[in-house]
Amino acid sequence: MPGKKVPKILLVFTGGTISMAKNSQGSWVPAKHTAEITNTFALMKKEACLDSHFVVDIDSSNMTPEIWQKIAAVIYAKYHQYDGFVITHGTDTLSYTTSALSFALVNLHKPVILTGAQKPISELGSDSMFNLFNSVKVAAHRRIREVALVFDTRIMRGNRSSKQYAQKIDAFWSPQYPLLGEIGVDIKYFPHKSPFSRPKKELKLQSQFSTRVISLSLFPGFEPHILSDIIEEKWYRGIIIRGFGPGNINTENELLSLIARATERAIPVLLISSCAGGTTILGTYETGQKAIVAGAISAADMTLETATVKLMWTLAQTNDMASIRQIMATNIAGEMGP
Ligand code: ASP
Repeated sequence: MPGKKVPKILLVFTGGTISMAKNSQGSWVPAKHTAEITNTFALMKKEACLDSHFVVDIDSSNMTPEIWQKIAAVIYAKYHQYDGFVITHGTDTLSYTTSALSFALVNLHKPVILTGAQKPISELGSDSMFNLFNSVKVAAHRRIREVALVFDTRIMRGNRSSKQYAQKIDAFWSPQYPLLGEIGVDIKYFPHKSPFSRPKKELKLQSQFSTRVISLSLFPGFEPHILSDIIEEKWYRGIIIRGFGPGNINTENELLSLIARATERAIPVLLISSCAGGTTILGTYETGQKAIVAGAISAADMTLETATVKLMWTLAQTNDMASIRQIMATNIAGEMGP
């Protein structure tokens, strides 16, 4: 079609299985298998004009908030040069990174599409090219102008996604938010509201995250005294507790008084449901209600990944308990319901 402008997309590499190969012990390690990826640029040229940029080449279990910052900084610096961005990433911590970018890139109005693979590009039957090619298409179509995850047949809001399966090809799901689209023979997009409303505002980078956060899972018999050291030492600035069912806790040991003590010392205690597919609701049972009275903050319908990253992001901005509560309860980037 004469005159049709092909969108400019920047492909950002951060590693993951997608670009791994086997070492001498047979384990997959980062291996710069990006030549296979960049060689396919010619195949994609009808969809997009592609450039590439390396940030790191790691197994995403080694991901850090400093690397989130570097990725966000690349997008921020090149925002006006490209129509969209595709980021390749390991699957293990992918939903933490999608969440971090969704908070770091304030007022984002362009596609930032993350993807990965369950089998490296060097292996027969790999899902790498399928995921990568569809991610480039989704970025080029520009129907989704936010941080999103394209994986197998699903297009998900990034900060609503979660890794569900370690071995299956459709590794990710979006338990609390509808899909943004579906990939079949064609790509279907579903109606959705962008996280940042119009009129468009200038992109802002807010990419600081506090790592002084600790996350604990309850189980029957959990001895809460570890919390007392954490609270009195005051090094950790936030505590995440995965409660039972919708977020309930044992109310017959010292846990309740420790939540109250942490709150008094301006250390927020975020309670989250241990059911991956469930919303945190603390009012239904007395064992949740008492936690709220003691000062706990509910993670509402946020995933564990998003709730954790949001608390890290919030603590990098403020120490003030009222502000922390207010930010945690506000929908910042589409990560929670109203
Ligand atoms: N361990 C790998 C990673 O997260 C898994 C993957 O990419 O699928 O980097």
